[in-house]
Amino acid sequence: MGKIIGIDLGTTNCCVAFVDNGQPQVIPNAEGSRTTPSVVSFAKDGERRVGNVAKRQGVTHPESTVFAIKRLMGLAFESKNAQKHARLAPYRVVKSDRGDAWVQIGEKLYSPPEISAMVLEKMREVAESYLGEDITEAIITVPAYFNDAQRSATIAAGKIAGLEVRRIINEPTAAALAYGFEEKEGQRVAVYDLGGGTFDISILEIASGVFSVKSTSGDTHLGGEDIDNALVEELARRFKESTGIDLRDDRVALQRLKEQAEKAKHELSSSLETEINLPFIASDETGPKHLEATLKRSELEILVSEIIDQTLGPCEQALTDAGIKREELDEILLVGGQTRMPMVQSKVADFFGKQPHRGVNPDEVVAMGAALQGAALAGEVEEVLLLDVTPLSLGVETGGGVFHKLIIRNTTVPTRAREIFTTSVDNQSFVPIHVLQGEREMAEDNKSLAKFELAPILPAPRGVPEVEVTFDINADGVVNVHAKDLGTGREQDIRVVVSSGLTEEDIKRIIEEAETYKTTDEKRRVLAELRNAAQALLYTSERAVEECRELVAEEVIVQVEADIEALHQSIDDGDAIAIKDGLETLELSAYKIAEAMYGNVEFDAPAKGEVQSDS
Ligand code: AMP
Repeated sequence: MGKIIGIDLGTTNCCVAFVDNGQPQVIPNAEGSRTTPSVVSFAKDGERRVGNVAKRQGVTHPESTVFAIKRLMGLAFESKNAQKHARLAPYRVVKSDRGDAWVQIGEKLYSPPEISAMVLEKMREVAESYLGEDITEAIITVPAYFNDAQRSATIAAGKIAGLEVRRIINEPTAAALAYGFEEKEGQRVAVYDLGGGTFDISILEIASGVFSVKSTSGDTHLGGEDIDNALVEELARRFKESTGIDLRDDRVALQRLKEQAEKAKHELSSSLETEINLPFIASDETGPKHLEATLKRSELEILVSEIIDQTLGPCEQALTDAGIKREELDEILLVGGQTRMPMVQSKVADFFGKQPHRGVNPDEVVAMGAALQGAALAGEVEEVLLLDVTPLSLGVETGGGVFHKLIIRNTTVPTRAREIFTTSVDNQSFVPIHVLQGEREMAEDNKSLAKFELAPILPAPRGVPEVEVTFDINADGVVNVHAKDLGTGREQDIRVVVSSGLTEEDIKRIIEEAETYKTTDEKRRVLAELRNAAQALLYTSERAVEECRELVAEEVIVQVEADIEALHQSIDDGDAIAIKDGLETLELSAYKIAEAMYGNVEFDAPAKGEVQSDS
């Protein structure tokens, strides 16, 4: 069995890890960084880039550079969060045929799982080139608070990237796994995870390889990006006040400002004051305008204190749901880059009444936990048992648009619930069922997962037909629904009208498209390599002709010159096969020059220490 890697698919950055000799290790990317920006950029010719290069392009081509796609995973376009993201993102967010929030680059539309798949593919490549083997299986982490649509979208992304997603695990659970893997004593741990775009809090009990999540809570749209945005708003407001120019109307300026705001935020985690300089950020009739500002840590803290406070409600909720008092917790683990901010650390310490644990790297611990789970599944390390919970209640819509819960939030998964449905009108030919996830009382306020029509039902008076519907939540937190007609005992085929997300056909089509991309990319690479080799050979052959023209037979020179010209032509035509042929032909004819010069002797490279003489 090959390695099962662990991928932390973050809003801002991604991290990939594997287990070596029982120890989780982060895999650095080709540039040597241990995390890779979750950024995809598209060039005019359709070529796409992922990671640091893409992030750099974001400054000059903001409209074709996609950041923070995780924030759109599994979201309907009309949802509040998608609208908020669309307003602030420098790229276009549009409505797909099925009502989901998609991204438009040039003429082409991309679903969020497609973009995430590009990031996952990059992480797979990072792992493959480091480990020197093909990788086909992964554990991918998601925020504990992701709903079914968001989890399904993540699994779809994995599939599109050619990865079999062996398990989806929750980020805080993964972090706890990395922290407590070798811990034998029983411990109660809170994992506070504030990343780029999401916030999660989970309370766990850890004992001898069993990681039992007691409760989880959070907000899938709260994170470091909100802090960046608050800072951008503030800097843009100050700039408008002094120049009258609104930088928010200019996508390129806005992107530059966003970059600087994030950088300033990072600096203020270790220093008390920082400078922000953006020369030539705008201009008007009086000439170019520069943004120069000094920002104090205290100013940033006043600006974003409320955002951080929003994480405390879910912390309270998680403790209540777990039935655990703050003082009963043994450790508080901080996860996610945003927890590097001193104010986050102090608010967490105040809330829980103890200093958080400092022994884990908040950027890497999630991927390491995922890798451990992968290694456990592959039998490389001791088995671990992750008993996770569903973060949101699952239920159906009943009369009057009321939400009837079948599985209550914080129930350990996998879990199952059954319900008998019937008709409300005589001779009704089908039973409509609307499956939802959430905590609100009315159906319309919750996330719609799917609508089913159980059909056909035999004609009967109302209330007589009995259809048993089983709702399953698997260990990945993904919902499945089965139906059985109790009258006939027949398992019914249910027609699923997916409320949103990608269908199996969509995924298949995207994979095929990705394959085409792969083929074109591969062709491009081969052509570039052939060109390089051809140019190197042309260079040496041209020099050989120049230097040996008088010393070898004329027909040899004439042949080499003809082959040189033909190879130049093939390079200009960009024809890989012709370049390869031309390369081989020229190699043979150019050898003849060498043969004529050195006689028919075979020659090797000079041995070490030997001196090559020109004469
Ligand atoms: P993650 O999703 O865990 O990669 O977290 C990324 C978030 O952490 C982004 O919003 C970053 O700006 C933020 N972040 C990373 N390093 C720091 C730092 N030193 N100080 C404050 N925020 C940081």
